Amino acid sequence: MIKPHGGILINRIAEGKRKEELENKAQGLFKLQIEDRYTSDLLMIAIGGFSPLKGFMGKADAESVINKMELANGLVWSIPILLPVKDSSAIKVGQEIALTDSNNTVIAVMNVSEKFDLELDNYTTKVYKTNDPAHPGVKAVLDGGNHYIAGEIELLNRPVGENVQEQYKLDPSMSRAEFEKRGWKTIVAFQTRNPIHRAHEYLLKCALESVDGLFIHPLVGETKSDDVPAMTRMDCYQVLMDNYFNLKHTTLGVLPAAMRYAGPKEAVMHAIIRKNYGCTHLIIGRDHAGVGNYYGTYEAQEVVDSVADKLGIIPVKFEHTFYCKACGNMASTKTCPHTSEHHVMLSGTKVRDMLAASQRPPVEFSRPEVADILIAWATGKAAVTA
Ligand SMILES: [Zn+2]
Repeated sequence: MIKPHGGILINRIAEGKRKEELENKAQGLFKLQIEDRYTSDLLMIAIGGFSPLKGFMGKADAESVINKMELANGLVWSIPILLPVKDSSAIKVGQEIALTDSNNTVIAVMNVSEKFDLELDNYTTKVYKTNDPAHPGVKAVLDGGNHYIAGEIELLNRPVGENVQEQYKLDPSMSRAEFEKRGWKTIVAFQTRNPIHRAHEYLLKCALESVDGLFIHPLVGETKSDDVPAMTRMDCYQVLMDNYFNLKHTTLGVLPAAMRYAGPKEAVMHAIIRKNYGCTHLIIGRDHAGVGNYYGTYEAQEVVDSVADKLGIIPVKFEHTFYCKACGNMASTKTCPHTSEHHVMLSGTKVRDMLAASQRPPVEFSRPEVADILIAWATGKAAVTA
C-alpha cells in the first residue's frame, strides 16, 4: 500500500483515558472559538488527512509553502494550513488553549508554539495567483487577517459542520483498511463537490478500467453557498453507485476539508490528501479546483505532473466528457470527432432551472434516479423561499 505523505499516518485523536484527561483540563483553559473552515482543517490534521502535519503551521513552514511549494523540511506542500486569530493578545507562546466550534463545544486542545504575522499580498499572489478579494479563497484568507497562532493539536470531539451520514465518515486509517480488506492494490480517487452526472460517471468508469478500485471521495467541508448540500449529494452518489457501478470495485467516503478554489495548488493538495487516504491515482479534470478565470485550463494537470514523482501518486488526466449523438455513446473532446451540436451538454444554470421546474434533464445528461433526488431538493428549497 502507498505510504502516507512523509511516511507515517498521523493520528491526533484523543481517546479513552487521554480524552477524559484533556476534557477535564480543557475546562480550565482559555477558549478560542474557530470558524467551520478552520475546524475542517483541524479535523483533517487529527485524522491524518494532512499527514505529516500534527498541528497548524508555524511561520517557517508557512513561508516555505508559500514561496517554494514545500514544507521547511523539503516535503512537497502547496497550501499553508493556518489558524488566524483576530486578537492573540490573551494567548501566550507555550500556553495550552481549548479550541471550540460554532456550538461552543470544546473540540481540541492546542499547544501554542508560536505567534506570527504573514504578508497577505505575497501569500495570496503566490498561492492563489491573485490578490483579488472577489476570489472566494483569497476572500477567506483576507477575512482571517494576518495574525496567526501555530502548534500541535489533539482532537477531543469531531466538530459540527460535518453534516453527512455517519457511514460515509471514512477516515484515512479506515479507507486504508477497507482497500486492504478488498485486496485493492491500485485505487483511483475522484474529487468532487457536485452531484455526479453521466459525463463524470463515464470518466470514473474509464479510470476504473485500469485500476482495482474507485474511491468516490466528495469534499463536504465549506464550499460556495450555491452548491448542493452534502447530505443530498451523498444520496445522489449512493443511488448512482447502487444502480450503475460495480460495488465490488467502488466505494464512497467523504473528505471533510474545505474548498479553497486555489486551482493548481489545490490540485497538489488534493493529491497529497488522497495519498494519505491510501489512493495511488487521482483524477484531475480540466480547471481542477478552479473558479472563474483565474487559472488556465490545463494548469492544475501540469502542476500536479511536475510533482507527481515526488508524491508517488499518479494523476489521471481527463478532457471534457459528454454524450455524443453521432457517436451514439459517451465521449470526450479527445475521442469524439463531431462538432458540439451533436453533444448533449447543459449549463449549470439550465440544469438548475429544469430541476426547480421538476423536470428531469435528458437521460444522456443525468441518470433519472439522481435527477429525482435533485428535483426533490430543488423544489423543496423553492417551497421554503416562496
Ligand atoms: Zn461524436
